[in-house]
Amino acid sequence: MNEKPTGGPELSCPLPLPHHDRIVLGHGSGGKLTGELIEHLFYPALDNPVLLRGDDAAVPPIEEVMEEGDSLAVSTDAHIVQPLFFPGGDIGRLAICGTVNDLAMVGAQPLWITASFILEEGLSYEDLERVVQSMRDAADEAGITVIAGDTKVVEHGQADGLYISTTGVGRIPAGRETSGRNARPGDTVLLSGTIGDHGIAVLVARGELAFETEITSDTTPLSSLVEAIYSTGAEIHTLRDPTRGGVAASLNEIARQSGIAIFLEEDRIPVRDEVQGACELLGFDPLHIANEGKLVAFVPQESASDVVESMRKHEYGREACIIGRVESDPEERVLMETGIGGTRIVDMPAGELLPRIC
Ligand code: MG
Repeated sequence: MNEKPTGGPELSCPLPLPHHDRIVLGHGSGGKLTGELIEHLFYPALDNPVLLRGDDAAVPPIEEVMEEGDSLAVSTDAHIVQPLFFPGGDIGRLAICGTVNDLAMVGAQPLWITASFILEEGLSYEDLERVVQSMRDAADEAGITVIAGDTKVVEHGQADGLYISTTGVGRIPAGRETSGRNARPGDTVLLSGTIGDHGIAVLVARGELAFETEITSDTTPLSSLVEAIYSTGAEIHTLRDPTRGGVAASLNEIARQSGIAIFLEEDRIPVRDEVQGACELLGFDPLHIANEGKLVAFVPQESASDVVESMRKHEYGREACIIGRVESDPEERVLMETGIGGTRIVDMPAGELLPRIC
């Protein structure tokens, strides 16, 4: 079995507390083992006064952070990435960044986050510790606090190691009006860096491909990059993180929400050679591949160079660039001007290109 005696003769009395090096069903019982998991693993890693009160619901100090005219933003996301660990990140970092970034895309500064874990019986305790520590590190970087959580355990074979759902709350300072509905003709379209790194890194990490590469996921909290963008004083019409479905899906959503046409210039879109190579081999379009640390921004043309400059000064926006512009026609369309002088339609990806990527 998985129980390791902690020393002493067999059948000594009292029996030593069993130490589990793997998750067992009892860790989800709500009883003694659940308590041990919370006290020995979750509390030390996530340590903060709101979480440690241990009541049925967290009571964050909202009056200390909200000012008149501010709004609240709430976002929730489930994370089922496979494998759990990949170059550049893991499911814990992803679970924090995914939700933090969705908050940041409406101009919200991250405040609090909750995390719900579904653990598979047999998951190694050490892996869980690594994941939770990684969540803490990403949360510290993003300036968000994990204030509540839940753990359930399912039988071996009923889940894939571990799933994490997170729900985040953020504060939108008064005056920020950023939405997928606010892009308008005359806007310039900006991208914060290279595309496709996350999707290809996770795919390669599965070890099912006949090649290896050095591609690293870009899993990153974007909240401080977003603050750098707002600090220019420019009107930020739209922000979006091109995750599942890639840049193509995000831009199509925005084109529909705002009823506009987006024209991209193919030569301006940054793609690493390794990602381009993998995409060509697999028949993928890099515009359809998921990113977890990139954003697209729509700003008035006159502010575009200021905003690009502010991004390039930030470590997560060094390769920021202009990739296109907004026009009024054809409505709800994304078009690509290719290097050879043609124009093609950029559509939503059809079906599920890369399952279990986030
Ligand atoms: Mg998003």
